[in-house]
Amino acid sequence: MERITIAIDGFSSTGKSTVAKRLAKALGYIYVDSGAMYRVVTLYAMQHNFINKSSFDEDGLVADLNKIHISFQFNDHLGFAEVYLNGTNVEKQIRTLEVSQFVSQIATVSEVRQQLVKQQQQMGVDKGVVMDGRDIGTVVFPNAELKLFMTASAETRAQRRYDELLERGDEVTYEDVLNNVQTRDRIDSTREDSPLTMAKDAIKIDNSNMDLEQQFEYIYQLTRDRISQVSK
Ligand code: C5P
Repeated sequence: MERITIAIDGFSSTGKSTVAKRLAKALGYIYVDSGAMYRVVTLYAMQHNFINKSSFDEDGLVADLNKIHISFQFNDHLGFAEVYLNGTNVEKQIRTLEVSQFVSQIATVSEVRQQLVKQQQQMGVDKGVVMDGRDIGTVVFPNAELKLFMTASAETRAQRRYDELLERGDEVTYEDVLNNVQTRDRIDSTREDSPLTMAKDAIKIDNSNMDLEQQFEYIYQLTRDRISQVSK
């Protein structure tokens, strides 16, 4: 069987990573959460005071990019790879609402994108990869054999993310989460460099009314069809 590249893009909190992780596991592929990489750069920028509520020192961050080393390590217990910043596990720290509030601004910086895209392309060089993000089917892997574009209403997505944050014990309001989801969608879709758009050859999936099982079954079937097509 041929190994293929699977690109999953879409709006914030559409459940891309949940389905991507499960798909990678079922296929024996690597899963890469490209959003985690932008979140790690954001965490670094916050820790070094390059960004806060009132200012963003873009040049300072760009000058420091070579000091940011991002790696993933598979956690057998959790069943997925956790992300590390310069050797420290930051998986939990990058998922806070505070990081979410700055990440889209960091992701507008072309130098940041260039560096992360290069690493992402390297991770997919042998195929057999499922990567999710915003520009995977358009920029990172324009030749991916399967491209999916996930979407759902902003309210459905905010509710899902709100439930997740509450479960982790974070103190947030639904309104703040909804506001963050909408703001990120706007910044991600309108930025100059690699805006979030659906690749021409992507399959659009609105999962507002699909549960996890239905999404997985549908996507798994699409994947098997595509693999058998390219294996012919
Ligand atoms: O996927 P996640 O919501 O964790 O991504 C966080 C943010 O990182 C997105 O809102 C977007 O600004 C940025 N991002 C990006 N390109 C990607 C993945 C994420 O610009 N491929």
